[in-house]
Amino acid sequence: MSQRIKVAAALKNGPIGALVDVRGWVRTRRESKQGFAFVELNDGSCMANLQIVVDQSVPGYQQFIKQLTTGSSIGVIGELKASPAKGQAVEVHARELTVFGTADAEKYPLQKKGHSFEFLREIAHLRPRTNTFGAMARVRNALCVAIHEFFQSRGFVYVHTPIVTTSDCEGAGQMFQVTTLDLARLAQKQAELDYTQDFFGKRASLTVSGQLEAETFACAVGDCYTFGPTFRAENSNTTRHLSEFWMVEPEMPFYDLNDNMRLAEDFIRSIIKYVLDHCADDMKFFAERIDKTVLETAENIVNHDFARVSYTEAIEILETCGQKFEFPVQWGTDLQSEHERYLAEQKFKRPVILYDYPRAIKSFYMRCNEDGKTVRAMDVLVPRAGEIIGGSQREERLDVLIERMQECGLNPDDYWWYLDLRRYGTVPHAGFGLGLERVLLLLTGMTNIRDVIPYPRTPKHAEF
Ligand code: ATP
Ligand code: MN
Repeated sequence: MSQRIKVAAALKNGPIGALVDVRGWVRTRRESKQGFAFVELNDGSCMANLQIVVDQSVPGYQQFIKQLTTGSSIGVIGELKASPAKGQAVEVHARELTVFGTADAEKYPLQKKGHSFEFLREIAHLRPRTNTFGAMARVRNALCVAIHEFFQSRGFVYVHTPIVTTSDCEGAGQMFQVTTLDLARLAQKQAELDYTQDFFGKRASLTVSGQLEAETFACAVGDCYTFGPTFRAENSNTTRHLSEFWMVEPEMPFYDLNDNMRLAEDFIRSIIKYVLDHCADDMKFFAERIDKTVLETAENIVNHDFARVSYTEAIEILETCGQKFEFPVQWGTDLQSEHERYLAEQKFKRPVILYDYPRAIKSFYMRCNEDGKTVRAMDVLVPRAGEIIGGSQREERLDVLIERMQECGLNPDDYWWYLDLRRYGTVPHAGFGLGLERVLLLLTGMTNIRDVIPYPRTPKHAEF
């Protein structure tokens, strides 16, 4: 009897001498003059391929060998043997071959290696079969496990916040509308939109953040986090923005901004360490093929404290550093990516937490400082990705919060449930949002955020 085994397991501690059943896709095939063929089999369970040795004497050899082109899917039953070849511990000597599906060598887009990332984006359904995107899928998976482990080991509750929302929150302009109204027909009739006739009876959108709903749970079950897809309709065609991305948002009662910063720092360090420990081969690939500094950067983050400077201090640094920036720096304006990266990459050479931002550029829910000018906000800036976390201590004082909403042009009545948290048993609390894809940029050295998510959505792009 043969034993079905994945390539990763076969290579790691496969049962030498046993009859194994391996299945996957052919990466390459070469024939030797001595009547052998060598097939490199990959099943996605790890970066490495498993070498299959096929002897002429295997039944159906002549016919099989023609079908074993790059991309074809096969099953092999054979003996797992210690390999004499350099660079691999084991190989399989085939006794039985099955071809599940052929892949026409003339047409298969991944027949040749070395395609550009731009080209691969156009075949997003096939790119997971390449080394880079296979590694990305495994690293992304490990990162998500690490995120859950970090919070679960600290007793945080995982909360599912809604994806469809009617709270016309924060950046209404940045939201994708959700509707079942027949827009084409209404446009033809030039009719007014009547949202009471819409599916939810009012205007609905895809969420830009689960924070406000997470706060309601933090004020009930304690430390919690939400982790899911987030949608922003901003038309920013950069290498760091997606229209659909994944965000992790912890929310903690009885935390002030310092507690929040400490958690954010521990969190980033812990999830990066997890990926280094669990995806060594994939990370080695990124270091060898994508950016040779990725391991150094990751280890540097794991082993050093983050710098902490106030926004005001950061502005002074940027104004006096002598560096030329495309966008001018001035107290009161939001930092651009070039400023964030200068601070993390050149000035501090490690992650930096900026805190106490001008209230005019930050959201209504951030706690106001006594100075009347700043709020208890924090951003974590890292090399390569720039801002990966935005967070704050939340305003827990009802009167101040209502005043801030008015200052920001929001109608407090629309947020009646959010204000209830301040009416009934309010507590100081804090939280932050981490962009999953920004962490992947940092970890893997990929330079375009479209290449760290399976199916990127960006303005004018949602083909798959
Ligand atoms: P940025 O200034 O980089 O546009 P932001 O300040 O608008 O980001 P926040 O609202 O603070 O973003 O969101 C929290 C985190 O979510 C950010 O720190 C970032 O890691 C991530 N993020 C925000 N917008 C995007 C996006 N469009 N694509 C991918 N990740 C994003
Ligand atoms: Mn932010």
